[in-house]
Amino acid sequence: MSDLYLKFVNTSVGKQAASSLGLPSPIELERWKRHDQSFIEGKVLVGAGPRPRALSALGETLRGSPATLYSPEGPATLGESSALVESGVAKTLTMEDEAIAEHKFKALVFDATGIRDTSELRCLYDFFHPTIRQIAKCGRVLIVGTDPASCKNPARAAAHKALEGFVRSVAKEIGKKGATAQLLWVAPNAENQIESSVRFFLSPKSAYVDGQPVRIGKGSGTKGRTAVNTNAPLTGKVALVTGASRGIGEAIARTLARDGARVVCLDIPATMEDLNRVAEDIGGSPLAADITEDNGPRLIADHLEDEFGGIDIVVHNAGVTRDKTLARMPEHFWDMAIAVNLTAEERIDEELMERDLVRENGRIVCVSSIAGFAGNFGQTNYAASKSGVIGYVESMARQLKNGITINAVAPGFIETQMTAAMPVTIREAGRRMNSLSQGGLPVDVAETIAWYCNPLSRGINGNVVRVCGQSLVGK
Ligand code: NAD
Repeated sequence: MSDLYLKFVNTSVGKQAASSLGLPSPIELERWKRHDQSFIEGKVLVGAGPRPRALSALGETLRGSPATLYSPEGPATLGESSALVESGVAKTLTMEDEAIAEHKFKALVFDATGIRDTSELRCLYDFFHPTIRQIAKCGRVLIVGTDPASCKNPARAAAHKALEGFVRSVAKEIGKKGATAQLLWVAPNAENQIESSVRFFLSPKSAYVDGQPVRIGKGSGTKGRTAVNTNAPLTGKVALVTGASRGIGEAIARTLARDGARVVCLDIPATMEDLNRVAEDIGGSPLAADITEDNGPRLIADHLEDEFGGIDIVVHNAGVTRDKTLARMPEHFWDMAIAVNLTAEERIDEELMERDLVRENGRIVCVSSIAGFAGNFGQTNYAASKSGVIGYVESMARQLKNGITINAVAPGFIETQMTAAMPVTIREAGRRMNSLSQGGLPVDVAETIAWYCNPLSRGINGNVVRVCGQSLVGK
């Protein structure tokens, strides 16, 4: 499961060999290490286009970090970011090459929310052209725009949609440094909902998420700013994680427990030994159940009701592959992939909803796959189930009330037992065919799920974020 090539190219001999042979030189990504670590350290340059609306929310979020903030000087790029300077949050920086060359930025953050038409896209060039070279190793580019779906004017919608192509391309250009770029598309008057996303995307927790647009709305449920312990945001929450005995599910259970949740770890009875180990390690409880059994959803709901009186977080992670080309696929392969990966999620949610067991501000997270976007040879069943998950999430997001959200992650190549079992050539191709030239770790998927589950992520609903290092596969 270990990526020996990644280790090799990060030795001095390996670096030389890779560069003389023109081979990819992936950087070892920075990941979250200490529980009390700040979400960002280093220098952050915050710029803005005309009429920016997210600067005070950005300033509020960054103010509490140990990062040193800079704001560009000069009318072309200054915008209202002078507010950050006036309030003493940021130092000014001359946008001249020599001045900029003295800095390495851990993050370049840009508020593009006020752009009105495509001519104003020029502010992106003005800000990023002189600064992008100065992005640090494992640095971050974060752009905040306006959700094109909320723009009545076509020129405005075009300009904000253009941010997507910009961000995806920047991500490809900075990937060799292990750096990533993301876009937050914020609905009007939802700027105060960006905090958890700014923290996540600027931090090492988002190491393997790259080139992703995220839609942020106002959210429903409890209004106002909830007081959240940033080191343990899920304190007091009960979470159900399916398929928790190993792989990605185990990482999700551990990460949600790290963030303060009491985790019910569910898996099939055959995995009991591993399941008990994981549950015991994290102070959670094991639940042996097959989610495809007729009475599975009822038994799960009974357990959650009896033990906890309800549930705050449901993570539908359990999944199977049963690969064969369509003409050779036995019917039980088809049935099983659809039953575990898709139908079980619907049935569990239906049971929990009907019995009103998902509490206010609850979170439902489904695990899709990039195969759900792109399809895959020999995976008609699996890809259908994972596309189905996306359709389910998008539809449910429109129906849920009471502050309950539903979102999905779509992992790419993640280093697990599933991918370790692949033939070596396919495995190597899967690892390298992305902007970061490496596979992700289970914890990368888990951190993305923990961000969705954060109480401050109430405006994030109906999103499907890929955790794939910007894989070349799919859109
Ligand atoms: P895994 O096979 O290591 O773990 C899946 C778990 O689900 C196992 O513990 C299994 O026992 C459990 N499970 C299967 N059927 C079940 C059932 N009927 N009831 C209860 N539990 C059941 O897989 P993984 O790699 O950790 O993948 C986790 C999720 O991520 C899956 O949904 C998978 O499709 C998805 N995914 C994985 C990758 C990857 O690269 N590993 C990529 C994209 C998507």
